[in-house]
Formats: sequence, structure tokens, C-alpha cells
Amino acid sequence: MTSEASTTVCIVCHLTVEPYMVAHCGVCGELYHLNSRADLPGEDCGQVWINEEHLGLEFACNICLNPEAEPGALDDVLDLPEAAAAANLSEAELERAAQLGHVKHRRTSSGVLLFVRGDVLEFAVSH
Ligand SMILES: [Zn+2]
Ligand SMILES: [Zn+2]
Repeated sequence: MTSEASTTVCIVCHLTVEPYMVAHCGVCGELYHLNSRADLPGEDCGQVWINEEHLGLEFACNICLNPEAEPGALDDVLDLPEAAAAANLSEAELERAAQLGHVKHRRTSSGVLLFVRGDVLEFAVSH
């Protein structure tokens, strides 16, 4: 694996991407196969569509289009209202518990509290 190769390898199937197949995912920014030539063979590893709001082309690879490929990873990240519902607590209670360090959490740069489902349920049980 040279660094040159990694720039032309599809993030989805890990095969080399021919120049006429190059597309960049708008979500993760990685390279993937998108066949722009009907006369040449090639499997698509993602999709392109027109965004009706911005009327621009949107690109996304199959990994970002099918997040379930990574089992449960994102489903287990909860924001405050979701986490409070999962734990059967009020948002204020849970936010306070997070501030006190009783439950693991992460605050994003925009100030949103994020929790992992397992930590929230563990806290709810011990609460
Ligand atoms: Zn591919
Ligand atoms: Zn992607």
C-alpha cells in the first residue's frame, strides 16, 4: 500500500477507482466508484442525486447511505431528549447528572449533549 494507491482506492469496496469512475462522497469525503460512462462497465459503490433545495448534485457512498453496515454504532448515540426518554428521566435530571459527572457524556462544539445508550441505561438502573 503506497500513499498514491490509497488516493485512488474506493472506500466501499477497496478496489482501484478508474478516472471515469471517480466520485467523492459529500458525507465522509472519501473516494468511491460512480460510473459516469454508460458505455463502460462498472459497479456503483454509491449514488448521486439532485438536491431539490440547492439544485446541486449530491454524492454519497454506500457506507454513508447504509449506516447499518456498522452495527448499531450511530443508533447508540443519543442526544439529551432521546437519552432522557431511554432512561425514563426528565431532560433536566439527566443534564444535571451529566454536569455532575454521574453519567458519561460528550458536549459537541455547538453545545449539544450526546450520550451512549449503554451508559444512560446503566445510570438509569443505578439512579
Ligand atoms: Zn467501489
Ligand atoms: Zn461516505
